[in-house]
Amino acid sequence: MVSDKPAARNQRAAYQMNRKMLDDYKAAKGCADCGIIDYRVIQFHHEGVQPQRDVNGKRKSYTYMLRGSWFHLKSELDRLTPLCANCHLIRHYEEQNVAGD
Ligand SMILES: [Zn+2]
Repeated sequence: MVSDKPAARNQRAAYQMNRKMLDDYKAAKGCADCGIIDYRVIQFHHEGVQPQRDVNGKRKSYTYMLRGSWFHLKSELDRLTPLCANCHLIRHYEEQNVAGD
């Protein structure tokens, strides 16, 4: 059951706004490897970047941050490498194979 209290409504509105901003951000950045700008396939790669953690030491994903402020979310995204799903898989595949040599 979805709450209809004003605070919950505001939270949902903020989340929806962040989702839209995130899609626009992905489209503006595009994939760092192949250049595709379709926001639907863009993911974020943590290349040598430690994820931010909450007060309990739990890893904060950027999807978790969609519930917070856009400014905070964007400061995290700026540390990451935008890649399309294919290039993201290739990066991880190559990282694993280099490590295995
Ligand atoms: Zn790509």
